[in-house]
Amino acid sequence: SIVVTGATGKLGRLVVGEMLRKVPAEQINAVVRDRAKAADLAERGVRLAVADYNAPDTFDGLFAAGDKVLLISGNEFDKGRPQQHRVVIDAAKAAGVALLAYTSAPGSLTAALADDHRATEEILLGSGVPYVLLRNGWYHENYTENLAPVLAHDAVVAAAGEGRVSSASRADYAAAAAAVLTGEGHENKTYELGGDEAWSFAEYAAELSRQTGRKITYNPVSEEEMTGILAGAGLPGPLAAILAGVDTSISRGELVVTSGDLSRLAGRPTTPLADAIAAGLKEQQ
Ligand code: NDP
Repeated sequence: SIVVTGATGKLGRLVVGEMLRKVPAEQINAVVRDRAKAADLAERGVRLAVADYNAPDTFDGLFAAGDKVLLISGNEFDKGRPQQHRVVIDAAKAAGVALLAYTSAPGSLTAALADDHRATEEILLGSGVPYVLLRNGWYHENYTENLAPVLAHDAVVAAAGEGRVSSASRADYAAAAAAVLTGEGHENKTYELGGDEAWSFAEYAAELSRQTGRKITYNPVSEEEMTGILAGAGLPGPLAAILAGVDTSISRGELVVTSGDLSRLAGRPTTPLADAIAAGLKEQQ
């Protein structure tokens, strides 16, 4: 089977959707925490397994020898994600899976946000399980699904200076993951994944202006100011600091990806940022 964890998440759903176009549904095993949330997947013929990264015994016997597994990184920052991911890696090793792909972060990213990913990569490589590192760059949607504050102030606020970001849509990363899971020859490969075109926040503001007919400007701030703005918007302090730290990494060019791996694996050019902006603006209407 091809097994996908986090299958009811935004990326996981897209990966399952892509794979349904390539392999019979009964070959796909979706690992979910909440069966009810996965009713639509079951309806399409996908098999379901219920498990939680926080409960190691729920992974007992979940994998079979020869399975290909996609471990989608979790989102519980306060629960020790490397330890959570180790649970999945240990179970995969015990079963003798053929491949375990992990959604990591770009190798160039030094921000604290990357720490859990580097730790997980180390556990995976140390396990001896045939691996694939899908070092996903930034999602367009990190920005374009959150346009309300931008439109409220006609300003894009970030601590990214003149740095550029090679973001791509979640669907692009999903297509690459599906290609790896359904294809051959990816054992022990590391892919640096990012969009075909890097953009600056000034360019992002200009495209927002073009599409809205308003004058939206980029307002660069310091990392400290950005932490305060995010905390003021309701993010817990530590998370606000971590996200502001990503902006500093962007200012240093750490989220520019030039490998071309994403469009090569997906088999098509990556989605333009302008398309994601259009979708994000439509949601705001
Ligand atoms: P989502 O938050 O939509 O999905 C996260 C998935 O992880 C969900 O399916 C969730 O399950 C699952 N999960 C979380 N904790 C556990 C647990 N303890 N046991 C089992 N499953 C768990 O994020 P996306 O799909 O958008 O992104 C996937 C991952 O990529 C994120 O979790 C994060 O690590 C990373 N990410 C990357 C970004 C980037 O720009 N590259 C941006 C944002 C996140 P459930 O459906 O039950 O909630």
